[in-house]
Amino acid sequence: MDQTMTDTVFYAELPWPEVEARIAAGAPVFLPLGATEQHGRHMALNVDVVLPTAVAARAAAEVGGLVLPTLAYGNRSQPKTGGGPGFPGTVNLTAQTFALIVRDVICDLFRQKVRKIVTVNGHYENIGPTIEGIELALDAIGRDRTDGLVILRVDHWDMVQPETLERIFPDGYPGIELEHASVIETSMMMALRPELVDLTKAAHDGPAAFLPYDRYPKPCAEVPPSGVLSLTEGSSAEKGEWLLADCTAGIIAAVAREFN
Ligand code: ZN
Ligand code: MN
Repeated sequence: MDQTMTDTVFYAELPWPEVEARIAAGAPVFLPLGATEQHGRHMALNVDVVLPTAVAARAAAEVGGLVLPTLAYGNRSQPKTGGGPGFPGTVNLTAQTFALIVRDVICDLFRQKVRKIVTVNGHYENIGPTIEGIELALDAIGRDRTDGLVILRVDHWDMVQPETLERIFPDGYPGIELEHASVIETSMMMALRPELVDLTKAAHDGPAAFLPYDRYPKPCAEVPPSGVLSLTEGSSAEKGEWLLADCTAGIIAAVAREFN
């Protein structure tokens, strides 16, 4: 066992003097934003936690960063992007709660002299409330008193290169909204946590054909019963590693561009 306590990139696994020293040395601080949400019959509920945490950890290891504890609850799952609230297992935060958590974490990091923050999102529905949380933090800090603070907001799937999508989807990329529990997420989970994937339970009831509007309170009935919005065929750990490599490289490049 060569690894010592201080080798880790995980913020909460370090004693406070080490965290203090790394922040003083300019470590970017990554905040992974996840969800506890159904991901089909073939995957665990924690896909949106595992993926941004892993991407943030890989990037942090390359840039001398720290990774905060992942927010394991997401903004309300929607039928067209995550299956919605009809599935057992999904646990939602309201947009207000989610935005206030993001705000509070950023404000407390700022108070502790952190000036380089990267949110790494793994759940589509978190986008709006994350932006709102960042804006609320800037309001609270004071926009003329930010003292060099820079916050980057990343959705990990946006870091995937077009060439990689062409290799994975030679017949056309269905778009990230429909990728819920499908080839991208399944492949990345097969690369990272294969014990949480059982392809023998993957259903073949997609892709979803959604109507161009939403309906409340009873959501549209077009969500495939499996909870997989597109297809899982063709998922592999090798493709997952291609995706992880793109996501990691994209974040490293953003950090280099924005923080140096
Ligand atoms: Zn997901
Ligand atoms: Mn999700």
